Amino acid sequence: MAKKEKAKTNLEVLGNTVEAFKKAFDDHIHHTLARDEHTVTKHEKFLAVAYSVRDRLIDRWIKTQETYYEKDVKRVYYLSLEFLIGRTLGNSVLNLDVEKAVEEAVDELGMTLEELREEEVDAGLGNGGLGRLAACFLDSMATLELPATGMGIRYEYGMFNQKIKDGQQEELPDNWLRLPNPWEIARPANSIKVPFGGYVISWTDEKGKLRNRWETKDYVIALPYDTPIPGYRNNTVNNLRLWSAQSADEFGLAYFNNGDYLAAVQDMELSETISKVLYPNDTSVNGKILRLRQQYFLCSASLQDIVRRFKKSHEGEWKLFPEKVAIQLNDTHPAISIAELMRILLDEEGLEWDEAWDITTHTFAYTNHTLMPEALEKWPVSFFEKLLPRHLQIIYEINSRFLAKVALKWPGDTARLTRMSLIQEGNEKMIRMAYLSIVGSFAVNGVAALHSDLLRTSLFKDFYEFWPEKFNNKTNGVTPRRWVRKADPAMSELVSSKIGDGWVKDLDEIKKLEKFADDAKFRKQFLAVKLENKKRLAAYLKRTQNVDVNVNTLFDIQVKRIHEYKRQLLNILHAIHLYLEIKDGKKITPRTIMIGGKAAPGYWMAKQIIRLANAVSAIIDSDPDCKGKLQMVFLENYRVSFAEKIIPAAELSEQISTAGTEASGTGNMKFAMNGALTIGTLDGANVEMREVIGADNFFLFGLTVEEVQDILAKGYRPRDYYEKDDDLRRVLDLITSGFFCPDHPESFRPIVDKLLSSDPFLLLADYRSYIECQEQVAKAYEDQDKWAKMAILNVARMGKFSSDRTIDEYAKEIWHAKACPISLK
Ligand SMILES: *Cc1c(COP(=O)(O)O)cnc(C)c1O
Repeated sequence: MAKKEKAKTNLEVLGNTVEAFKKAFDDHIHHTLARDEHTVTKHEKFLAVAYSVRDRLIDRWIKTQETYYEKDVKRVYYLSLEFLIGRTLGNSVLNLDVEKAVEEAVDELGMTLEELREEEVDAGLGNGGLGRLAACFLDSMATLELPATGMGIRYEYGMFNQKIKDGQQEELPDNWLRLPNPWEIARPANSIKVPFGGYVISWTDEKGKLRNRWETKDYVIALPYDTPIPGYRNNTVNNLRLWSAQSADEFGLAYFNNGDYLAAVQDMELSETISKVLYPNDTSVNGKILRLRQQYFLCSASLQDIVRRFKKSHEGEWKLFPEKVAIQLNDTHPAISIAELMRILLDEEGLEWDEAWDITTHTFAYTNHTLMPEALEKWPVSFFEKLLPRHLQIIYEINSRFLAKVALKWPGDTARLTRMSLIQEGNEKMIRMAYLSIVGSFAVNGVAALHSDLLRTSLFKDFYEFWPEKFNNKTNGVTPRRWVRKADPAMSELVSSKIGDGWVKDLDEIKKLEKFADDAKFRKQFLAVKLENKKRLAAYLKRTQNVDVNVNTLFDIQVKRIHEYKRQLLNILHAIHLYLEIKDGKKITPRTIMIGGKAAPGYWMAKQIIRLANAVSAIIDSDPDCKGKLQMVFLENYRVSFAEKIIPAAELSEQISTAGTEASGTGNMKFAMNGALTIGTLDGANVEMREVIGADNFFLFGLTVEEVQDILAKGYRPRDYYEKDDDLRRVLDLITSGFFCPDHPESFRPIVDKLLSSDPFLLLADYRSYIECQEQVAKAYEDQDKWAKMAILNVARMGKFSSDRTIDEYAKEIWHAKACPISLK
C-alpha cells in the first residue's frame, strides 16, 4: 500500500505545467549537467529538456511494469537485431500530451522545440525497413496497451553515416553514444552471463536419465540498457531492453593474476566487440562469425531474462509458459532462441524433450521478411561446433524428429526429406535458419498479402503442405504518430481542423476526410500545405547540401536502401530519358527527381548506382537547357530524421521494385499517408494500397509476378528490348558512351553490361511501361486541382496501414495477448 501512495505523490510533484517544466529544465541544467545560463550549450539544453521529459515517463514506466507483474499478464517479447528508432524527444512529448507546455517552457531557453529536436542524434540501430518496422511496432504496442517488451542489441556504432565525396558514397562511423543518450538507463543489477564455446558433457543421472551440460569458461556479460516506450496519450510505458556486451571479470582476471595485464585488456576488448557495431547489410547476409556471436548474445541474454521473469511468478509451472509468454522473431536473425530455450528447459530445468519441445513450439512465432535467396540465413555447422556445440546437438535432434514425421506423411519421398532438412548437405554443411524458425514456431507470417501467398506457394511450399495452419499474413503498417502527426504538423492541423484529431490514435477515422476531396477550398489549403512542406525541405537541402531546388516543380522522390531489386536504376534511366527529351526541344512537366539511400559498404553494384545517380545529376545541373525543367538531386545520408523532412514534401512516391521482390515496403505507406501519389508496381503492400486507394488514384505500371515468372521461365532476353526500343537504346548508349563520366568513359559500362546480359530484375522488360506511366503522371500533374483531389483521397484511404492495425492482428491472431490498461491510482 505504501508503495502505491508514494507513486501517486511523485506524479503530483512532477507537474506538467509550463512552470513545472521551466523549473525542471533549470534543475537539470544545474544539477545534472553542472552548467549555468552562461555556459550551457545548445546540446545541453536539449539534454535538460530530454531529462525533464524522461522524468515524467518514469512513474508511468514503473507503474506499468508493476501492473504487468501484479496482474500476471501474458507478455509479448519482440526480438530483433535491429530497432531503427530515430529521434525520441518529439514523440515522447506528443505521446505524453505535453506539447503545449514544453513548447512554452522551451521558449525560456531562447529556443524552439523544433530547434531542440535537431540537436538529438538519431538512434540508428537498424538498416532500413525491418528495423524501422520494429520501432513502429514498439509505438503501436504501447499505444494499444499491450504488455510488450522489445529486446535488441545496444550497438556502440549504429548505421554508418553516408557522405557523398566526388560523387561516391563514403561511410563514416556513427558514434552515436559519444554524446550522452538521455533516454537509456543502465541496469547492471540485471546483467546476465552469456556463454560461448566450450564442449558438451553427457552423463546418466541417479534416475538413469541421460543428461547433457554445456561446459565453458568463456563468458560475456550482457548488460541491459532500458529505454521507456510511451503509448500515445495513455499511461502505458513499455520497455525496450538493449543488451551491451561487457567482458566477464573472472575471465580477464585469470591473465591479470599471471601478471599479463595487456593480454587481459585485449581479451576484454574482444568480448566487448560483440555489441560494437551494427552489420550494415540490408536484405543480404554476412556469414561472419561475429554476426553469429551477436545473434546468440541477444538470444541467450533475452531468453535467460524471460525465463527468470517467468520463474519469479511461476516457479515449476512450466506448462503455463506459453500462456504467459509469446516471443516474436523479427526475421531469422534471433532464430537461435529456439535452440536456446530448449537448452535451458532440458539442461538447466531438467525437463524431458517432449515437454520442452511442446513449450517451445507454443511460444515462438516467426516473421519472414524476404524471398530473396541472398537474404536467407544459413550458418556453417563448423561455426556452431566452435561457438555453440550444445545448440548444434539440439538442432540435430530437432531435425531428426522432424524428418521422421515428414517421412511418415510422405513415405519414400527422399527428395522431399533432403529439401526440408534443417541441414543443407554439401562440402560445407549449413544450418537453414528459416527452416529452424518454421519448425520451432507455432505461427509463420509474411508481411503483405502477396508476400505471404508467395511464401506458401514457393519459398516454403513443402512446409505449407506439412503445416498449412501455421502460415498467415500480417500486412505491415507504420505509426501515424511519427509519420504523419510529427512529420507533417501543418497537414495534421489542417486535417484535424476538419475531422478532429481522433485519427492520430485510430487512423481509420481519417476516412472522414474523403468528403473534403470534393471541397474546392480544402483542396487549395491542402496544396498550400504541400507547398510549405516543399519549401521546408528546399531550405533544409540548401542548408545541409548547398543545393537549390525549385519548389514549383514536381517533387518526384525515391528514398530507401539502394538495391538492384528496388530499381533506383530504372528511375535514373527515366531521368536520362527526360534529359534527352529536353535536348530534343520537347516540352516536359518540370520535375525534381530526388534519390536517396545507403548502399551496403560491400555491395559494389549498389555503389555504382549511387555514382551514376550523382554523375547524371551533375550533368543535368550544369546544362542550362534543363534550368527550371529538370533537376536530379542525390539526398545524402538518408535516415529516420531526414525521412521525416523528405516525405511530407513529396508529390510522387517511387515504389518500383520488380514484382515479387519487395516483401511489403513501408516507405510506400509513409508517402501515401502524407499525400504523395504513388507510381508503383504490383509488388508487396503496393497491391493492397492500390486496392483501398482506388486504381484511379495510383499510377500502376509493369509486369505482374506471374508475368515475371513466365518471362524468366521462358528465358529472358533483355537485349531484345534494347534492340526493339529506340528510346531505351539511346538512353543506354549515352551511358555507355561515357557522357556522364568523361574522365573515365568506361566506368559505367558494367552497369549497362549487366542490364544487357542478365538484367535479373527485368528493368528493360518494364522500361516502356514505366516511361509511359511517367507520362501519365506528368499529364496529371498539370491539373493541380485534380491532383490535389487524388492526393487527399490517398491520405483519407490509408487507415488500414497504421501499425496499430497490424499490431492488433498480431495480438489477437498470433500472440493471444490482451490490453492491460494502466491506472496511476
Ligand atoms: C521507412 C524507412 C525505410 C523503409 O523504406 P522502404 O521504401 O520500404 O524500403 C528505410 N529507411 C528508413 C530511414 C525509413 O524510415
